[in-house]
Amino acid sequence: MAIPAPASSPLVSIPADISDALFHHAVDQSAIAISITDARATILYVNQAFCTITGFTADEVVGRNQSLLSYKSTPKTVYQELWTALSGGRPWTGRLLNRRKDGRPYVAELTVTPLAAQNGGEPHYLGMHWDATEEHRLAQQLTNHKQLIESVISVAPVAVALLNSDGQVVLDNPAYRRIASEMRVAEPAHAVMSALQQSLGEAFHHAVTHRRALSGHELRFERAGGGEARWYACSLTWFEERSTLPDAFYGDDRTDYQLLVMHDISASKRQEEALRLAAMRAMLSEGELNQSLRETLAGAVFQLQGPVNLIAAAATLQKRRAGQGAALDPLAKALADAQAAGEQAIATLQAAMPPEPLEPTGPVNLNEVLRDVLMLETDALLSAGITVDWRPAHVLPSVQGDPAALRNLFRQLVGNAIEAMNVRGWNERALFLRTTAQEGQVEVEVVDTGPGIPEALRLKIYEPFFSPNPSRGGARGVGLSLAQEIVSRHRGVLEIDPKHVGGCRLRVSFPATRAVLQAAEANG
Ligand code: FAD
Repeated sequence: MAIPAPASSPLVSIPADISDALFHHAVDQSAIAISITDARATILYVNQAFCTITGFTADEVVGRNQSLLSYKSTPKTVYQELWTALSGGRPWTGRLLNRRKDGRPYVAELTVTPLAAQNGGEPHYLGMHWDATEEHRLAQQLTNHKQLIESVISVAPVAVALLNSDGQVVLDNPAYRRIASEMRVAEPAHAVMSALQQSLGEAFHHAVTHRRALSGHELRFERAGGGEARWYACSLTWFEERSTLPDAFYGDDRTDYQLLVMHDISASKRQEEALRLAAMRAMLSEGELNQSLRETLAGAVFQLQGPVNLIAAAATLQKRRAGQGAALDPLAKALADAQAAGEQAIATLQAAMPPEPLEPTGPVNLNEVLRDVLMLETDALLSAGITVDWRPAHVLPSVQGDPAALRNLFRQLVGNAIEAMNVRGWNERALFLRTTAQEGQVEVEVVDTGPGIPEALRLKIYEPFFSPNPSRGGARGVGLSLAQEIVSRHRGVLEIDPKHVGGCRLRVSFPATRAVLQAAEANG
């Protein structure tokens, strides 16, 4: 608070009904420390507030120089400025460090005003000051806090961005700017906000409307050009700034800000992913082993079933022939024993069959599934000399499903593509994978540069056990029928692009999780 400097010469005359005594009393009782000095700053008068603040009595200071208040640490230049102004007949306002009578320092907010010389005499000076120690302490504390927060934020390993109510980033830190350059986006905060919106749906709108904090929501960002994906744990909080304008002094004028904090958890996620991949490989090989065991046993049961059926028919015939004496007929008994032994063998084989695995369903990120598939198929792709163009959507909503089945689906489609291109003499060997999200759907495109599927066979290839190239083992035909079954189970659509030339282009789309939930809600 600066004390307003009075005019150096009186502009208004004092009304007659205000006596000199009243005027003197008013000055004496003023809450501001007042002193009047001569031209050399020798104190002629001090009021009561001056005595209260400094601890001196009037008798102790009158006749002495104002410099008795100096703490002697105020730079000389400050006094020079003060005296330059006063010598020029101008008032001066500033802060000085003063000493009380007991030696304790205090910050004085001082205004000195020259009083025009009267009757040709020397000028006098009017000094007014107040103890600004507490205000100085608070202001300094605020500056210190601000500096502390700024330095913590600038060295913090987490990225911080403050967004105003228009969504503009008004403050950020070096970690945030690093993310911007790594992700090659101008404003990562905008990408995060739309990713949160996509993945949380209604919950995000609810949080925004009710100013609820979102904490540690994990988001995965794919990088253009197939670089390693990045994971961020994102938190969002709201912060209200009260207006500092005077007209909002008694009002409730506030501005809303959103504080976004992004913590890079890519390293731990990658570790987690490596462990998951190892577990998945182990699970897949166990699954494949079980599958082939199931197929072998089913084949054996099928092979046995025929002869056992024949024996059963013969046993029934012989029993009928033997009539009453069937119980004693050795052939009927031998046939019944053979039938029982055959059925026992079938039952034993069936009991040895490993059960079909039951996979839980939940939200699945197809970017992750496809990345897993590419990793699992790396050797096959490399040995077939196939180049891969993998373009994941920057942020992809999840789909509801069985992760293992979806992985099998894309393994099948990628496997088919590899098989189609891995033909002697075939030069065009490129696989293009892309994920996109639009209108509540997640779409995956699998394009190969193989020979393609002739138009006449496009419907037939979905039939089980049909293969366009039986000579090559027929996996492609079987694969597509299996793939179709998995896609249908996930309420998706699998289609072959009929217009595509120069290979095969498959499009698989699924409803995004939010759409799935909403449809379920709508259906009651
Ligand atoms: P000083 O020798 O007093 O002066 C420092 C510099 O000021 C000198 O180098 C000189 O250039 C200039 N100077 C000093 N006296 C004059 C003069 N008469 N004419 C022109 N230039 C001059 N100081 C405080 O520390 N605390 C106060 O609360 C305070 N209140 C004041 C109130 C009034 C009304 C006035 C007129 C002055 C006040 N001063 C106050 C200033 C004080 O008089 C001293 O100038 C200051 O304390 C420095 O003292 P010093 O002994 O260190 O140096």
